Amino acid sequence: MTIRFDLSEGSLRAQSHYRQVALDQMRPISRKYDLAEHALPREWVDYWWREGRFGAKGGAALANDGFVTICLQAEQLCWGDAGLYLRMPTPALGGSAVSAAGTKEQQAKFMAGFREVGGQPIWGAMAITEPHAGSDAAAIETTAEFDPATDEWILNGTKIFCTAGEGASTEPGGFVVVWATLDKAAGRAAIKSFVVPAGTPGMQLLGCEKKLGIRASDTATLRFENCRVPKDNLLGRAEVKKQEAAKAGEASSKDSSKDSSKDKGFKGAMATFDASRPIVAAMATGVGRAALEFLIEELARQGVVIRYDAPPRERTAIEKDVIEMEADLQAARLLTWRAAWMMNKGRPNNLEASMAKAKAGLAVTKITQKAVQILGPLGHSRKLLVEKWMRDAKINDIYEGTQQINQLIVARRILDYSSAVLR
Ligand SMILES: Cc1cc2nc3c(=O)[nH]c(=O)nc-3n(C[C@H](O)[C@H](O)[C@H](O)COP(=O)(O)OP(=O)(O)OC[C@H]3O[C@@H](n4cnc5c(N)ncnc54)[C@H](O)[C@@H]3O)c2cc1C
Repeated sequence: MTIRFDLSEGSLRAQSHYRQVALDQMRPISRKYDLAEHALPREWVDYWWREGRFGAKGGAALANDGFVTICLQAEQLCWGDAGLYLRMPTPALGGSAVSAAGTKEQQAKFMAGFREVGGQPIWGAMAITEPHAGSDAAAIETTAEFDPATDEWILNGTKIFCTAGEGASTEPGGFVVVWATLDKAAGRAAIKSFVVPAGTPGMQLLGCEKKLGIRASDTATLRFENCRVPKDNLLGRAEVKKQEAAKAGEASSKDSSKDSSKDKGFKGAMATFDASRPIVAAMATGVGRAALEFLIEELARQGVVIRYDAPPRERTAIEKDVIEMEADLQAARLLTWRAAWMMNKGRPNNLEASMAKAKAGLAVTKITQKAVQILGPLGHSRKLLVEKWMRDAKINDIYEGTQQINQLIVARRILDYSSAVLR
């Protein structure tokens, strides 16, 4: 077996292209949109829609190198600014859900606007979390009822913490993928996802969350009140397998691979996380690298040059810290690339995606806090972006499955326990 860690030429080209984009387009407005929480970063959104989304070379890089390049892009752009990255007009998690659970026709229909050149920017989002259901996604209470008279689904419920939820629910062409249950008594088998196009009557934006970090990102609360969508907006199949009803209430912990249901609706929706977790891990790595690179440059400016080759007993405390930070970052990146590479190859990557997410979420939290600590008052000051990176870091340890949930999934996969046994 050959193990190679080299990136392809296309990936390397994309990497350097997105770093330049981050440097030119994101860093100069990073503080502006951290302070102006929720304001639409018009210059960035327009740039991305007109030029940025077509990639390093007319879109070729993304097309050829697939998922690994998506992760490289995420790392570079979050090195620029994680909040602005999340505000980019893209299908985002909504698109991942449509790809994971939707038919070819649904993929073509709902993603069409994103492929068009020109027009106004479009956003996608995914709404799972509710006031009483986050880690335990199977506990959601939003309902979907079928109306045979009109051939429509009627959605009722409230969704919170929906990333890109403002743009996706209000701007024409956008959509929110909403998780809802067809039958609360039937447990996870009855949970399906529905595409709700922006502006659908009954979908109401209640507001955006004020947050510690990623303040440029619109984290929305959405209410669904008799919100009607066509029958075909249900992703996957509508049937609920009755034998699954016995599992009602079993904690799912955002865990897909031990679900014995053959229903692509729920399983497909859960599989979204196998794609999204490596991306979040890459985002975390980008923020961590921003802090670490800055720290090393600033130390050098102050005359402290890290001696990587010094024997351990001769290393200073700062050298030990920086070398540990580098090791954590590299480990997170390699786990991320492995999970992404497996995704590219169509291999099951549930374990690897959770490993990468758990490692990177923790690493970025530690690295950014340490950078602030070592820089002291300078690190704490708003004159620099280091304190912002520390605030932007923490979310990577929370969304797309918290640190604890991803560790649980890793333990289940390694020990071969079901979510019913190890929860
Ligand atoms: C900025 C932001 C953006 C978000 N974007 C989206 C989005 O786009 N779409 C969406 O649907 N959701 C989104 N979320 C929601 C996010 O995914 C959830 O908040 C997260 O999954 C945690 O769920 P919870 O809020 O119910 O917390 P809880 O599950 O109540 O967790 C609270 C604490 O308990 C721990 N915990 C929970 N269960 C266990 C267990 N079994 N074992 C050990 N520890 C456990 C958790 O790790 C955590 O530390 C977002 C959240 C934030 C803050």
